[in-house]
Amino acid sequence: MSTTKHVLICGAGGFIGSHIVKRLKRENYWVRGVDLKYPEFCETEADDFVIGDLRDPYICRHVVDQRFDQVYQFAADMGGAGFVFTGENDADIMHNSGLINLNILKACHKRNTKKLFFSSSACIYPEYNQTQPDNPNCAEDSAYPAYPDSEYGWEKLFSERLYLSFHRNHGLEVRIARYHNIFGPEGTWEGGREKAPAAICSKVAEVPDGSEIEIWGDGKQTRSFLFIDECLEGTIRLMLSDWTGPVNIGSDEMVTIRQLADMVMDIASKELNVKYLPGPQGVRRRNSDNSLIYKKLGWKPTQPLMDGLEATYKWIEEQVRKSQKSKSHERQQKTPILHAGIKNRIPTA
Ligand code: NAD
Repeated sequence: MSTTKHVLICGAGGFIGSHIVKRLKRENYWVRGVDLKYPEFCETEADDFVIGDLRDPYICRHVVDQRFDQVYQFAADMGGAGFVFTGENDADIMHNSGLINLNILKACHKRNTKKLFFSSSACIYPEYNQTQPDNPNCAEDSAYPAYPDSEYGWEKLFSERLYLSFHRNHGLEVRIARYHNIFGPEGTWEGGREKAPAAICSKVAEVPDGSEIEIWGDGKQTRSFLFIDECLEGTIRLMLSDWTGPVNIGSDEMVTIRQLADMVMDIASKELNVKYLPGPQGVRRRNSDNSLIYKKLGWKPTQPLMDGLEATYKWIEEQVRKSQKSKSHERQQKTPILHAGIKNRIPTA
């Protein structure tokens, strides 16, 4: 009998999902991915990839048509501050991500899935604990009384409870991580859904030395950012552990957004003026509290932010270069080649 473990990755066309497919393939798992789309920046390494909408219960039953050893659930309607905090996408975020979690959980329960991982978020933490200048409270047990600052956070909190109730009532083994700002190469870097590190890297890469970039807020809001490799390490360790969670998976190297911009400028060797603009920002202070993950898994993220930023900037700079080159090529294609005789016939009014 084969001992190869079978894994399903929901959201395998997205940033974290496509990276975990690669990592699990290196570890000899048999992997099926499912998503609305294939990964944007690489060829999927999944053994099988289903294009399907997980809001549809039939699709969920169809992709869970065998007994998976592990299911990782990353699919969600999500994005950075410009998508989550404007209020304009609240109905879609709650409805779409809610349906995905309801459907996939039911399908996994019916098909006797062994272990199911859910990607929750630091956005579930109450806003009232994240207003103080230097000591935001993001310990796992501070989640209640609940008061997330966005509908995205409320949906994640509801879904955490949904997964935990299937664990209590049906014995499904669930694993819940609360991610804190994951970043790295092959993540969304343009289009409105990009998060702060990618947004800053692309702005810095796009402009010449000595010019200006814009930042939402006063630049003093704080966050911590976790590089994708450490996110995968923590996620897989949690899945293989006996600990249900919820547990933070994040870095505890807290920086202001201005410091983040300065680090990227250093990497790019550019000096740019920063202009502050009003815009969606989320909570004032946030940092990962890593006491629980260290206690339960004997592991916590340790990589300095600068290391991950260097790899990410390099990749985004390359994307910006390619995009600028193809835009300039398009412009050249559209510019009519005017020969003297023809030019004279073009109407001037
Ligand atoms: P992502 O947007 O890159 O990936 C999500 C994927 O889900 C996308 O490929 C999308 O096409 C897919 N999807 C959306 N609706 C779907 C549907 N109806 N059917 C099938 N697929 C659908 O996001 P990510 O950064 O890879 O995040 C993965 C998970 O981790 C998400 O649940 C997110 O909320 C959570 N999370 C991420 C971060 C972060 O910083 N990246 C932080 C906290 C939590």
